[in-house]
Amino acid sequence: MDSKRRSSLAGGLLLAGGAGLGALGKAEPAKAATSSMPFTVSQTVIPIVGTSDVFPVRRIYCIGRNYEAHAREMGSDPTREPPFFFQKPTDAIQFVAPGTVGDHAYPSLTKNYHYEVELVAALKSGGRNIPAASALDHVFGYALGLDMTRRDLQRMMGDQKKPWEIGKSFDHSAPIGPLHPVSSIGHFAKENISLSVNGRVKQSATLAHMIWSVAEQIAKVSEANELFPGDIIYSGTPENVGPVLKGDVIVCRIDRLPDLSIRIV
Ligand code: MN
Repeated sequence: MDSKRRSSLAGGLLLAGGAGLGALGKAEPAKAATSSMPFTVSQTVIPIVGTSDVFPVRRIYCIGRNYEAHAREMGSDPTREPPFFFQKPTDAIQFVAPGTVGDHAYPSLTKNYHYEVELVAALKSGGRNIPAASALDHVFGYALGLDMTRRDLQRMMGDQKKPWEIGKSFDHSAPIGPLHPVSSIGHFAKENISLSVNGRVKQSATLAHMIWSVAEQIAKVSEANELFPGDIIYSGTPENVGPVLKGDVIVCRIDRLPDLSIRIV
């Protein structure tokens, strides 16, 4: 981009995060003190346990097929291929407070709506090419989350070699509980992770079954995209994903975190 074009865009797109970048990739300060926004855009946040603070969400990354038995049930060979990921929009977040059952609307367009219980890691810092050995230093905290999926549309798009977007990245597709800071809860490694529907256990595994650890996930994603504070990573789901219907109550559990519960309405 030539300098004339950049200066014409710098004010208007500064908040989009890209146009204010200089040649070295550093953010340039806003120059146009007279500019204003014609409207505001809400910032998605997640409450932080034990405080009145909230965590602002920048990007939602989701790791795919990160448990061997789930990779098999999705039709892939669970050898240690590099992890792949997709994103959900930040307004996919549906916060559900512990001790409550969040009403979760059955989405449009699908007839096969699936649950996927997942550990979520939230970053307080980022970078490029982060070594796995130091990757956990970037984690602010953890939460329990659901990667809700229009499975029929995900499969149909995959079969047609089209993007998964409509199957994964839709409104309210990322229910989540509060964030628990590492300073109080530490890191997760071998905890049990499970999900029940109407009191029947459907998914049950341990975090030790993850093919790629949270540290390795951070390292791998940072090879593709620079990570920033506010990025969160859904770390994949164990086997036995399945459908829900209106009226079903889903309860998600990871040892040491409060349950996450939603009712499909
Ligand atoms: Mn998932």
